[in-house]
Amino acid sequence: MSLIPIKTPAEIDKMRAAGRAAAIVLDRLTKLVAPGITTGEVDLAAADFMAELGCKSAFLGYHKFPGQTCISVNEEVVHGIGGPRRLAYGDIVKIDCGVVLDGWIGDTATTVACGVVDPETERLCTATKQILEGAIPFAVAGRRLGDLCNYIETEALRQKLGVVREFVGHGVGRKLHEEPQIPNYGRRGSGPKLKAGMTLAVEPMINLGGEGVRILEDKWTVVTTDGKPSAHFEHTILVTENEPEVLTCMPLIA
Ligand code: MG
Ligand code: MG
Repeated sequence: MSLIPIKTPAEIDKMRAAGRAAAIVLDRLTKLVAPGITTGEVDLAAADFMAELGCKSAFLGYHKFPGQTCISVNEEVVHGIGGPRRLAYGDIVKIDCGVVLDGWIGDTATTVACGVVDPETERLCTATKQILEGAIPFAVAGRRLGDLCNYIETEALRQKLGVVREFVGHGVGRKLHEEPQIPNYGRRGSGPKLKAGMTLAVEPMINLGGEGVRILEDKWTVVTTDGKPSAHFEHTILVTENEPEVLTCMPLIA
């Protein structure tokens, strides 16, 4: 018996609304990224944007997480906490935004360049974005989850990038983390068979250097052990019989 929740059409409509809200908040936050702003200011703005859209953070208070969003700079991979750090020209900033709207969650993340970044870092960011985009078509009914996971790993390794293994994507719905776990690595043909109505947060976390990561003393911020930059992109995706539907796409008219 599969433990992976299948959403009803009415539930999917609510997930669409939550995904859209998450995408809009994330889009607004990315526009704040500039040299001199603190990560705490970006995080505070998230609370305002969420309130405006009638949703709230899915992260704040989750296992006592103290931020509205996760904001991770350069060698920070994920789960960074907004604070007094001022963004500098040449930084890359990962913003991860999860919102709850009407009891349902949308989860999406992106990596933003603060000004112009060095060519290798730019290569990392472009590759990670493309890897997420390339993984999405695997989220169709009848395919094994391992095919999607394997695609991410294979593409990253082909481009001589490090795949973070300790942190993974996940099912998402009423809860932030549902079955299944979605590692950014795996064997083709392995894992559960995907079914229409599953909603998956797919989130490659890819390093410019080695795959090793560790957690800082704040007990949240994940950093690369070699200090090299890391990129992160995430969408919440609905599995259908045909084309997957990206629930955290920016609407054309926000
Ligand atoms: Mg996320
Ligand atoms: Mg997630």
